Amino acid sequence: MFNTKYDVAVIGLGAMGSAAMMAVAKRGYRVCGIEQFHTAHARGSSHGQTRIIRKAYFEHPDYMPLIDRAYEAWQALGSEINENLIHTTGMIVSGPPNSDCIRGVEACYDAHPLPHDKLKAGESRRYFPQFSFPDNFIVYHDPLAGYLQPEKCVSAITAMAVQNGAHPFVNETVLSWQNLPDHVEITTNIRTIAADKLVVAAGAWAHGLLAIPGLHLDIWRKPVFWYTSSHIHDYQTSFPIFFVEFDGGGFYGFPAIDESGLKVAEHTRAELVAHPDELDREPGPDDEAPILNFLDRMLPDFIPQRTQFSVCMYTMTADGHFILDRHPKYKNIVVGAGFSGHGFKFAPVIGEVLADLALNGATDVPVDLFGINRLIKG
Ligand SMILES: Cc1cc2nc3c(=O)[nH]c(=O)nc-3n(C[C@H](O)[C@H](O)[C@H](O)COP(=O)(O)OP(=O)(O)OC[C@H]3O[C@@H](n4cnc5c(N)ncnc54)[C@H](O)[C@@H]3O)c2cc1C
Repeated sequence: MFNTKYDVAVIGLGAMGSAAMMAVAKRGYRVCGIEQFHTAHARGSSHGQTRIIRKAYFEHPDYMPLIDRAYEAWQALGSEINENLIHTTGMIVSGPPNSDCIRGVEACYDAHPLPHDKLKAGESRRYFPQFSFPDNFIVYHDPLAGYLQPEKCVSAITAMAVQNGAHPFVNETVLSWQNLPDHVEITTNIRTIAADKLVVAAGAWAHGLLAIPGLHLDIWRKPVFWYTSSHIHDYQTSFPIFFVEFDGGGFYGFPAIDESGLKVAEHTRAELVAHPDELDREPGPDDEAPILNFLDRMLPDFIPQRTQFSVCMYTMTADGHFILDRHPKYKNIVVGAGFSGHGFKFAPVIGEVLADLALNGATDVPVDLFGINRLIKG
């Protein structure tokens, strides 16, 4: 009935699933991955030119051991493929003294000896004249932050997995899975796959595929804009990544790395999506106003001309932290989900964790924060 029985099958080959597939393949196990679209597609959560990687993690101190490993893992993968994957630009984090991001980075700098500069809004104009922060804003500069290119990274990870013997089945949709006494049976629109272990890394589709009673994941629609300007060269190589808490929102952006220009989006705004297949991919009337207001107030000389628009999805847990755990009912099923809009930078580490949990049932990476039971209600 089956051509091959796999040690591990992975559902979803975005950032996390492809990294899990690579990690399993590199350990010499038989692994396949199933992806409903093509490699590095733009319909999930791992696309859109750039992703921030940064050392000063304001979300929670427990990410710090993972972030060090993530830098190492991206550098190691880059060495293997002879390409630099982390593009260091430095990053500004700014907001009023009591804002979440400022309190978060300060807690992080208090606890960890990380290089950084703290500037008052007026001083920052000397170094970053493009910004016009209000006088009460504090500005932190993280010189180690930079960006990853998600499409390039997912393609490189998938290629590395294949080089190590993995079988990716792309343009193929998992319709269901069933945990039988001696294996997991995965039914796609094309074939039936048997595996000892299953990793579910299905991004915004995870909730439906897992169907765990009491587990709820919200999907947020995230519009992203690119702009050029008559003096775009001021926003290119010497311009930092930024995250600014302003007007009740968290706005972030990247330097112009090609002709599409400066990329800007709002991290905080939540627009719920009922199902990922129903995501509205067109710009809506309310999408751009907060971004233009932000640019007008913080980068007043920019004078934006829109070049590009994209939509992506955050898969949110109730507390904004990941799920990296075994299924509450089946120990041979592993869940990597709920990356809540900040998972990409950790992808190779998460791949290792998912491989550890699938193959060994445990991991030496500290993942206590990411247990699934904390999110199961009722
Ligand atoms: C706009 C935006 C900006 C972000 N910025 C950052 C950032 O700066 N830094 C950072 O670290 N993180 C960032 N993130 C978050 C990060 O990109 C995500 O956490 C990460 O990419 C999620 O990866 P994933 O593998 O879980 O999901 P996905 O990449 O969506 O992968 C899931 C895959 O599963 C597949 N799939 C689902 N169901 C099935 C099925 N039934 N059969 C077959 N295949 C299936 C999907 O097609 C998809 O390819 C951002 C996210 C967005 C949307």
